[in-house]
Amino acid sequence: MIERILEPEVMDNEIEAYEYDEMDFTEVNTDFALLASKLSNDQATVLDVGCGPGRIPLILTDLRPKWHIIAIDLAEWIFQEDFDIYQKSPTDQFDFVKAKEGGLNLVFLAIFTSPRQAEEGISKEKSDFLINKVEKSLNKWQKEFKLIKSISEIDENDKDIIYVVFGMENGSPIEDKLDNLSFYLKKGVRYITLSHYKNNLICDSANDSVRTWNGLSEFGENVIKEMNRLGIMIDVSHVSDSTFYDIIKITEAPVIASHSGCRYFTPGFERNINDEMIIELAKTGGVVQIPFADFFLREDANRKFHQNEYEISKYLNENQIDPRSQYADDFENKYWLKNPIPKSSVKDVADHIDHIVKLVGVDYAGIGSDFNGVRKLFLTEKLKDCSEYPNLIYELLLRNYSDEDIKKIMGGNILRVWKEVEKIAENY
Ligand SMILES: [Zn+2]
Repeated sequence: MIERILEPEVMDNEIEAYEYDEMDFTEVNTDFALLASKLSNDQATVLDVGCGPGRIPLILTDLRPKWHIIAIDLAEWIFQEDFDIYQKSPTDQFDFVKAKEGGLNLVFLAIFTSPRQAEEGISKEKSDFLINKVEKSLNKWQKEFKLIKSISEIDENDKDIIYVVFGMENGSPIEDKLDNLSFYLKKGVRYITLSHYKNNLICDSANDSVRTWNGLSEFGENVIKEMNRLGIMIDVSHVSDSTFYDIIKITEAPVIASHSGCRYFTPGFERNINDEMIIELAKTGGVVQIPFADFFLREDANRKFHQNEYEISKYLNENQIDPRSQYADDFENKYWLKNPIPKSSVKDVADHIDHIVKLVGVDYAGIGSDFNGVRKLFLTEKLKDCSEYPNLIYELLLRNYSDEDIKKIMGGNILRVWKEVEKIAENY
């Protein structure tokens, strides 16, 4: 059986040579004038002030002081002892400077462990190590970052600091012990993506070729109840459809899809969420957050992505090459370069947002990015790192979203869910 690994999250070798053209400021400036002419005088004045060559970020920060993102995987610089926080990281899509440029002030950092680590029995050890490491690193930069464990710790007036909250991607570190949920809550973990690309003790994954539980396991059902009780958000990204419906039946709190697109645009791709599921999720009061990668957003990109993965696996299998070897890695990198997949744009992200809004309303759409979680190669044009959020805001403004709606999409909705989940836990 050929293993298809979607969303290759563990990437030691970024394809550095592959860079898209830098943003075309001339083009943006032209559109920008058009945009400014559409806005009210007040807004246009604000947009005029110091916006620099084609960028909107810092200005809109004043209009919309709270933007948030979710599902950013850990950045390499966090592990570098001597990293200069006032320099941009050459490899990571999230760092202090880019966050400031993009007007970002709250980040959910995903503590990710792989299915392979689960097989080796080291998920908990690995996640504990990562949490400790991030705590220690951020401690060095207290003027720039603040690690928080509850929504009540956010000071709406403090626009300088970047708040950091832990998420957990893949529930394997919970092992088979419900007590570990309390342990991670104390560490500050506020959402858990139940699985990754393989089934685990909690549930079936959308990406696994076999179904172990046909949804949630019995242990998984107890995990859901305990997460409701403790106030940890349940994240359905990566889980199978049957797992999703099992969760919906049990949960007493809103659930989130931290980084899933609309399946409407990628028929048959279970990793994205279909219309019926979006409606069910909205009924819980949750939010669907759109990731910024080609294969989530466009059918042609999704098809080519899978075709490439199939061809790569076939070649490695037929030639008995260890997929973890350096040779396999080099081969794969070259293959992607020779066989590029169709590119998505900011418009595709906005189309997914529009789709959710039309289906269930603006209260249930958000942004998931998946920065640092997918290869740089697959990231959406003009949304390739945290500094580029304003390009999405700009597209939403062109589509006549109000300031109020944009605030919800860019983070207000996920904060509403977090608050609600905490409240339900308090009254449990
Ligand atoms: Zn993921």
